[in-house]
Amino acid sequence: MKDSIKNYYLEEAEDIFERLGEARYRARQLFSWLYAKNVSSFDDMSNYSKDLRSKLTEEFSVSPLVLEERLLSKIDGTEKFLFKTEDGHFIESVLLRNEASDDGRLTICISSQIGCAMGCTFCSTAKIGFIRNLTVAEILDQIIHVRRVTGLLNNNIVFMGMGEPFNNYDNVIKAANIMNYSFGFHISVRKITISTCGILPAIKRYVKEKHLFNLAISLNDSDPALRKINMPVENKYPIKEVADFINKNPAAGYNRMTIEYVMRKDNISKKNAEEINKLFKFAHVMLNLIPLNSPECPVKKDIEKFMQYCSIMNIPIIVRKSLGSDISGGCGQLAGKKYSGGSGEIIEV
Ligand code: SF4
Repeated sequence: MKDSIKNYYLEEAEDIFERLGEARYRARQLFSWLYAKNVSSFDDMSNYSKDLRSKLTEEFSVSPLVLEERLLSKIDGTEKFLFKTEDGHFIESVLLRNEASDDGRLTICISSQIGCAMGCTFCSTAKIGFIRNLTVAEILDQIIHVRRVTGLLNNNIVFMGMGEPFNNYDNVIKAANIMNYSFGFHISVRKITISTCGILPAIKRYVKEKHLFNLAISLNDSDPALRKINMPVENKYPIKEVADFINKNPAAGYNRMTIEYVMRKDNISKKNAEEINKLFKFAHVMLNLIPLNSPECPVKKDIEKFMQYCSIMNIPIIVRKSLGSDISGGCGQLAGKKYSGGSGEIIEV
């Protein structure tokens, strides 16, 4: 497998061009081809000489992912993208069309690993186990493919697909920084959210390094005993310790913090709301409530009751819609598999 040119920061790409006997400014042209013009071959970079194009092709690849399947939800317009890696594995990304944010942008949910080691019981990715981390290029290529086939250029990015982003810390941060470059995708730090199940050492590092991307913590259970069952990370890094750290480090590095809470029938009592309230000092966070994508999802009336209980926290609370359920594109449903039937529509790629 050739190294992808998308694995590099601008300064690193400048060094590569210098090593190849070329001017350093060629790297800026490269970034424009890759991230603004979505070009997928060195041969299409028309302001490079034939000699430079062949030197680059000899050493580097451009696009490490092949788009295998594009699937459209008939229920809500969500799209799911299945990609094949060069070593034959599958990963997925999701375009959340009906979840436009306040500014009208749509959201691309991307993967950071092939499989995942964290073993959350509600998650299809967990069943794959951990295979490997995605490279920077593989993380970025998901966005490039989605933008290319949809024509969408104005989007939010959430690291909430397959994998635990903070178990692939260096590549995730590097990819997020490249997304933010003004001559690349130029996505604001406020439009990029990194989600974690609560890997405390990585959260501490993230805060210490003062990154400005939004941070989301998957809570899902306020009762530690239940959380241990549903999210084994609780055994190693109890959410109480994560919350204590966050409470003591308000807005130290992250731009906005959200607590993600997938609602089941058995975790939306008044007691649950009080426990969440006790865990976090809520001045600087937002609570995202997400209905579980399964028959265990609570009914509307109970969700409304839970929202009322949660109002004691006096913070913004958003109930997300459960999207893409007919194409297994919802929270916890990504399994890196070809579509095996349902009401979704396969779009030719
Ligand atoms: S929910 Fe996230 S952290 Fe948990 S197993 Fe699934 S991908 Fe991993």
